[in-house]
Amino acid sequence: MHSNTPPRSAAGSSRRATNIGGRLRDEKPSASRPQVKPTAEGWVQPMGPDGRPVLQFAQKRRVVKPPRHLADMNLAERQEVLKELGHQGFRAKQLSTHYFEHYTTNPDDMTDLPAASRHALAEALMPPLLTEVNRLKTDRGDTIKFLWKCFDGVLVESVLMRYPGRITLCVSSQAGCGMNCPFCATGQNGLTRNLSTAEILDQVVQANRVIAAGELGGGKGDGTPERVHNIVFMGMGEPLANYKRVMDAVHRMVDPAPEGLGMSARGITVSTVGLVPAIKKLADEDLPVTFALSLHAPDDELRDDLIPVNSRWKVDEALDAAREYFDKTGRRVSIEYALIKDMNDHGWRADLLADKLNERGRGWVHVNPIPLNPTPGSIWTSSEPAVMHEFVNRLRDKGIPTTLRDTRGKEIDGACGQLAAANEDNTDETIPERNPAR
Ligand code: SF4
Repeated sequence: MHSNTPPRSAAGSSRRATNIGGRLRDEKPSASRPQVKPTAEGWVQPMGPDGRPVLQFAQKRRVVKPPRHLADMNLAERQEVLKELGHQGFRAKQLSTHYFEHYTTNPDDMTDLPAASRHALAEALMPPLLTEVNRLKTDRGDTIKFLWKCFDGVLVESVLMRYPGRITLCVSSQAGCGMNCPFCATGQNGLTRNLSTAEILDQVVQANRVIAAGELGGGKGDGTPERVHNIVFMGMGEPLANYKRVMDAVHRMVDPAPEGLGMSARGITVSTVGLVPAIKKLADEDLPVTFALSLHAPDDELRDDLIPVNSRWKVDEALDAAREYFDKTGRRVSIEYALIKDMNDHGWRADLLADKLNERGRGWVHVNPIPLNPTPGSIWTSSEPAVMHEFVNRLRDKGIPTTLRDTRGKEIDGACGQLAAANEDNTDETIPERNPAR
């Protein structure tokens, strides 16, 4: 998703206590509202010999690479590969059109290619990457969660969502994740490997194929061609830990067709739990993507437990890097904040977050609180509605633009990592009860 000094109270706030749903809530950290910790249900953060949480920033060296695919290359490189294989270079453009504009890898569909070489050409540049293993739909059919199996059997997910006027795809950037966030099913099994550029793009192309086939519900049904408008890198994995392949994928998303998908960079959101050096690198790319910082706590005391990467880069460092991103790109930054009951949803935390953002200037940031899936009986459950609204109002009172987001796909285990975790042992089984880890 993404100093043990006591949090400061809201400087200058006239607010002293708030009556929520009949309960009196004080804004101070010592107030009567409980402070639930990630360790409450027995979760233990694995620690390294250096006394810091164990995190995995890179995949192991011996990982077998996915097969080379045209989406891993730019157009000139595709032409070179075809020439080396004895084909005509211009065939690369035709193959690219089939992939990025017609969303097909089936040689029988490629009637503009000579019948004798169609299969060889497709084999050379379009090896199968992701095979659909499972698909879950909401009742209205406007949200679809896909489970894909990669060439080596690892499982990854993407979620396709229709909103009024736009279609968004949440993509995975890694198989597994090395960031070990305690609320996240993906993080509990560590990083298996980075996805290749083409494996990231294939999630988009296959989603476009599903949309073109009319399988995403909620459309007008008038035959207007549709495709994915927005991409969010909020599926499995920490995108900035797979920096080069994610950046290549973003380039290929915005490259004009048929070299790429011809999407707008502004519709692409790259998120991180706070890998500060990589945020600075991203700010220097000439790519106007939207940047999202998954903060989830404004105080280091809680964030050290909730987002273990906070042991490397503290809240203030992550926020400074986010502000730097805005300074360099002029693009407003999003702060993602999963609201977890009695863990990070206290009013004083909303005040502290607002103060920290305002210390860094005005107009550069937007906060998106998102309720966690309701999981009664677990510490990993969503905040009460009144608490959520109070949290939002406190941010707004201090001038921070804030939008309470809806969680899509609750009924299909919409949160990252759950579908793959449920299918790890037997890919044919139906999905069990929601995993309380996220
Ligand atoms: S995928 Fe899970 S473990 Fe990895 S950064 Fe996101 S929330 Fe944390």
